[in-house]
Amino acid sequence: MRPAPICATMLVLALAACQPVRPDAPPAAAATAAVPADDNLNAVLWVQRSAEYRALLEQAYRAATDKLDAALADPQWNALVEGEREGDGAGLKPAVVLDIDETVLDNSPYQARLVRDGGEYSDPSWDAWVEERKARAVPGVVEFARAANARGITLVYISNRAVHLTEATLDNLRAEGLPVEGEDVFLGLGLKVPGCEQHGSEKDCRRILASRKYRVLMQFGDQLGDFVRIGDNTPARHQALLERHRDWFGSRWWILPNPTYGGWEPALFDNNWKQPREARRAAKRAALETAP
Ligand SMILES: [Mg+2]
Repeated sequence: MRPAPICATMLVLALAACQPVRPDAPPAAAATAAVPADDNLNAVLWVQRSAEYRALLEQAYRAATDKLDAALADPQWNALVEGEREGDGAGLKPAVVLDIDETVLDNSPYQARLVRDGGEYSDPSWDAWVEERKARAVPGVVEFARAANARGITLVYISNRAVHLTEATLDNLRAEGLPVEGEDVFLGLGLKVPGCEQHGSEKDCRRILASRKYRVLMQFGDQLGDFVRIGDNTPARHQALLERHRDWFGSRWWILPNPTYGGWEPALFDNNWKQPREARRAAKRAALETAP
């Protein structure tokens, strides 16, 4: 191709420089090509940067605080389902049961690092994050804990953090101003409960253990499995559990938003994490509901 005369080239460049740039113009393709896609980008940003997330957490914990006195006064009030408690709790000390991750402690910096680095969850990277002891308390929970403490209510943490992370977890909770009273208020994954057969990471055995010592007034979590045994992890099962127990949400059970991970996600790809990331993403795209 014959080169354009120098004077003509300079004229084209000068005209281009004079073109106004629209503020809503998409960035040049070369600039966007270097930014990797990640399924979790928006979810992590929503947790970290939106006022709406903070408001939802504060709203939930404030509403729960408002119900503590009614729960204490009603001897029939119990937040554990039949089959996941021993007895009706009469005469036992009152307690509330809380999950830890995304219920009490905010692990979004760990998720943000995965997005930044293009990584996915792994036990070693998770353990390293927990050992840092730097997770912050989620909005509203410290105020709720103070209100519960003032009424003589014990906080019991039932978490799927493994028991080898107990010390780091308790250090982190205390540093964030959360009460950790006694030896048996952290019931982590791997704890053996006499008389109860453990299934995977289900929490039912640990709820039974809590019921031997406490009348559980409320449960807090970001997953259905924080409240009741799930069994088969399928979307249909999740919906059935919601149908059965929906009256308890907002009184005995308090669920908190977590868009960044949870059992709902693998339920969409047959719980098969061994599939390549692209295959899991394809299954999730296939699960999109594009018609009402
Ligand atoms: Mg959780």
